[in-house]
Amino acid sequence: MRLFKRLIFGLFVTLLTLSWPTRCFAGPPTGGYVNENTATTTHFEIHWEGSNTSTHYATNNWINNVRAYLDNAWNFQTPIWQAPPDPDGVIRVDVWNKEVEAYGETKLDILSGNLEIELDNDYAGTIVSGEEGLKMTTAHEFFHCVQLNWVDGATWGNSTYNWFTEGSADWMADQMYTQKQQVYQKL
Ligand SMILES: [Zn+2]
Repeated sequence: MRLFKRLIFGLFVTLLTLSWPTRCFAGPPTGGYVNENTATTTHFEIHWEGSNTSTHYATNNWINNVRAYLDNAWNFQTPIWQAPPDPDGVIRVDVWNKEVEAYGETKLDILSGNLEIELDNDYAGTIVSGEEGLKMTTAHEFFHCVQLNWVDGATWGNSTYNWFTEGSADWMADQMYTQKQQVYQKL
């Protein structure tokens, strides 16, 4: 069972990505939102589709989970690894129907230094699905933001170093959730 889990999360590492766009810093889905909703928390500005006729629609319950797990990532990671070096201190988060198994993405605007995270609107059909998928992805993607305290943007966006950026982001997700789950399963 443990090996099976490692295989799943090993695959997870390869599926999560970060990118370093030079021009386009687009967070919304292609075509934009029909009815864009926005919520601002202390550290995040969350955007999502409010029209339930759209495939990108996210329920209020899902957005509440997004907020909770992002805050959890902030509270767990920043005391040791420092707050992300986003210039305005607020990270934009877009929630929409990403491709199955795409999980999430973190983008850096190299001109402004702003960071942005994309998340799925339900994680339906993914290997780590539903709320478990959201937990793992928020922990993983937020750590990509934190990583910029320790590596410069060029290194962060260079695929040569994916082994480090992806591996350490997956390690962080492991710290936040997987190890605890394994402990609970033993108890
Ligand atoms: Zn990643």
